[in-house]
Amino acid sequence: MRKKRPLGQNFLIDKNMAAEIIRLADIPPEGRVVEIGPGHGVLTELLMGRAGSILALEIDPKLCRELTRKFKGRDKFQLIEADAMKYDYSAAGPKFKVVSNLPYYAAMPIMKRLLTYGSHITDMTLMMQKEVVDRLVAQPGHKEYGSLTVFTQFHCRVERLLEVAKTCFSPVPKIDSSVIRLTPLSQPPVQVNNMKTFFHVVHAAFFHKRKMLKNNLRTLQKLYPLDFQKIEDAGINLSRRGETLSLEDFASISNLLATNHD
Ligand code: SAM
Repeated sequence: MRKKRPLGQNFLIDKNMAAEIIRLADIPPEGRVVEIGPGHGVLTELLMGRAGSILALEIDPKLCRELTRKFKGRDKFQLIEADAMKYDYSAAGPKFKVVSNLPYYAAMPIMKRLLTYGSHITDMTLMMQKEVVDRLVAQPGHKEYGSLTVFTQFHCRVERLLEVAKTCFSPVPKIDSSVIRLTPLSQPPVQVNNMKTFFHVVHAAFFHKRKMLKNNLRTLQKLYPLDFQKIEDAGINLSRRGETLSLEDFASISNLLATNHD
């Protein structure tokens, strides 16, 4: 019988790759790091040689016991048995970096939760499924570009850092991974009058990926008075598909809707 791995436990076994990830994380000597899912501690051990202090969150009690034994007496290391999808990251300190080989099944909820604590986070060096990273860094017009892309690029600067072959893990997963750096922005990259409206427009635009923007925006009719002429006058061709719109375009549409609405 195949062993179940509901906790996304594909451990990094390539030591050179682990070292490269930590090098790219660029940890300053006194820096505070939150590591999510330390597992057997392959990244943690390397972080120990660089960071000022490390807070590790691990959900698996068995791994927590192993880590406690392994890093016993190391002052700079603190381990909390916790679910990273629920943890209150403001308790981790005023400012910290995040480093993680994220469990595949929970990568998105954890990333989204972390972004709600953006003001605490200097940056995050995260390993994730390659296809997810493709979506996070996508540019308008590409098939991977979608509401997740816009959400992420609205909240942070995104940089693809490294590709990691599935053979670097044990057990070997079915998919390749990539490492990405996300740097939370103190200000959104576009001027948006009403964030809720902005994300309403984004979700509507991608509702049916193959439909024209005009048809997708109609789904907002109950929430906002829609003036298509005004949107066209602002330079946005409504025959386009949502996937061709830049963050600036989404901002223009949502600012028009928010104005009509208020
Ligand atoms: N950092 C180790 C490495 O690189 O080998 C392990 C990475 S493994 C992909 C993901 C780790 O996250 C596992 O140790 C798993 O138990 C842990 N994990 C899974 N879900 C979690 C959650 N919701 N909160 C905290 N840790 C979790």
